[in-house]
Amino acid sequence: MRRETDEFGKKIILALDLPDVETAKEMIFQTQDYIGTYKIGLGFLGVGGIDFARELVKAGLDVFLDMKLFDIRNTVKTAVERLADIGVSILTVHGDPYVVEAAKEGAARAGASGLDIYAVTFLTSLDMKDATEAGYKFGSVEELVMFRANVAARAGADGVIASVKETAALRDSFSTLKIITPGVRSAGSAAHDQKRVATPTEAFQAGADKIVVGREITEAKAPLQAAEGIYTEVKAVSG
Ligand code: C5P
Repeated sequence: MRRETDEFGKKIILALDLPDVETAKEMIFQTQDYIGTYKIGLGFLGVGGIDFARELVKAGLDVFLDMKLFDIRNTVKTAVERLADIGVSILTVHGDPYVVEAAKEGAARAGASGLDIYAVTFLTSLDMKDATEAGYKFGSVEELVMFRANVAARAGADGVIASVKETAALRDSFSTLKIITPGVRSAGSAAHDQKRVATPTEAFQAGADKIVVGREITEAKAPLQAAEGIYTEVKAVSG
């Protein structure tokens, strides 16, 4: 499964939201010329996600563990210390400042200098109505995301996960914070359950460092062509 993708492929993260390891391996095999990092998320935990992450790291692939950790300080620190040992390059936690601080402490304790801690700001599948129902008192999703990015950055986050809609404002305010944007779709593709979608071109023009793409590739009739299409767009906007 070893290969090297180029600088454009490294900007694309494929979300392996798939039913099992075999299907995920097949997806990696098909798309590896165009994808730089593979994201293992919560849906994969029950079918061997952590062992699979280890296997991918051993094979030389970049792995993003999308755990969205949230717990008391000590538990977050211990969890990150142990997960860091796998050798993944990106790990997500909730953006609450004490969670980010604890995660950074865990990474430091593991000596994992290659691990970036990303704070989730607000899920791209949610909108202002969801934010209000969750008790947030902000005038807009952008205000909420800016607030959460600010506290996460001050707590030491290496990066944030945010939708493309907030990326330009984040880039303006935080020049060194890395930004990964999910909810990305090529023009004309299905939005699925994402409420704040944008194209790869819009994502990079707004200042994103990397994009996450899932179902547009994994549910495509021809995943290789779908990955190639995204790659071509990323190369055109970055080149
Ligand atoms: O299939 P799709 O491209 O919508 O997948 C997006 C991926 O990004 C999913 O794995 C989802 O969990 C993740 N994600 C997101 N919004 C966030 C953080 C992560 O959609 N704010």
